[in-house]
Amino acid sequence: MKKHNFSAGPAILPASVLEQAADAVRDFDNSGLSILEISHRSAGFTKVMEEAEALVRELLNVGDDYGVIFITGGASSEFFLSAMNLLNEDEKAGYVDTGAWSAKAIKEANLFGKVEVLASSKDQNYNYIPKGYDIPAGLKYVHLTSNNTIFGTQLKEWPETDAPLVADMSSDIFSRRLPLEKFGIIYAGAQKNMGPAGVTLVIVKKDLLGKVNRELPSMLDYRTHIAKGSTFNTPPVYPIYVSMLTMRWVKEQGGLVAMEQRNAAKAKLLYDEIERNPKFECTIPNPEDRSLMNVTFKPVNEDDAAAFMEAAAAKGVDGIKGHRSVGGFRASIYNAMPIESVQVLVDVMKNF
Ligand SMILES: *Cc1c(COP(=O)(O)O)cnc(C)c1O
Repeated sequence: MKKHNFSAGPAILPASVLEQAADAVRDFDNSGLSILEISHRSAGFTKVMEEAEALVRELLNVGDDYGVIFITGGASSEFFLSAMNLLNEDEKAGYVDTGAWSAKAIKEANLFGKVEVLASSKDQNYNYIPKGYDIPAGLKYVHLTSNNTIFGTQLKEWPETDAPLVADMSSDIFSRRLPLEKFGIIYAGAQKNMGPAGVTLVIVKKDLLGKVNRELPSMLDYRTHIAKGSTFNTPPVYPIYVSMLTMRWVKEQGGLVAMEQRNAAKAKLLYDEIERNPKFECTIPNPEDRSLMNVTFKPVNEDDAAAFMEAAAAKGVDGIKGHRSVGGFRASIYNAMPIESVQVLVDVMKNF
């Protein structure tokens, strides 16, 4: 039976990408060698790395004033690396607390400098995006989580501030266009909307670096990886390759404008059914705050949960169990999710 993969992450990849990725394990680019057994300094992989960086720059319109690097450690390491590379002990950064990942970023940043929590939606179990809060002048940066993978909310507007924005975009990178000039750092673990687990994309404005007075170990200094084109040490060759294929696919589909349109259509299909269907309700009350990537909803009658999971599974719908801190269901409908699969889920809801 065809499976429809609604997993929050690691998550669905385009079928054509999986085919090419499988081929390259046996024979990479007609070289007679597997992508898994070639040097990260070989001509073949150098081309992959260059294309991966070029695709990030092209898709998101990233200029030369930014470094684009592929490193390891996951978005979780960026929680501390961003603060470690930008924030001195006597300086202050602002953080917007919109979920579990934001809270972790705040905890790590506290190790390196002063943190002011500008706003939080913790009082309502993170079911909304705070708005209209004050941002004081003089902050080193303002940290945001653009899409809250666990709770199902997403920032639709970027706050007004003179400080550069530092954003965790792990679960919505490449899902929409961005006003890049507002951002000092964008980081994303690959395994939601960009590729397989094992690589983290960091886009960083170069003139923000080199201003902290602490000593940074080479591996933890963004400048090392920028200077060495992400090959200071052995990079995660295969996750970078598969991410490159996925970015190629995004470009072939029409780039981020096409992704925006498709993602909006998929989300509308599913949210409309949640609104219409008396058996379900959305866990995010304000439609403006609802994520186009992770759709969280629950049965009106808690007793329906198990039966619905079963009905969904019978149609090949996989990975819709909600996060333990929210309950209910979560359907992740990242770039690679075809609208036909969303329709399968909607049909299960209609017939339930
Ligand atoms: C998954 C996720 C993370 C954690 O990513 P790792 O790569 O596992 O460290 C951080 N932030 C967001 C928004 C996520 O969705």
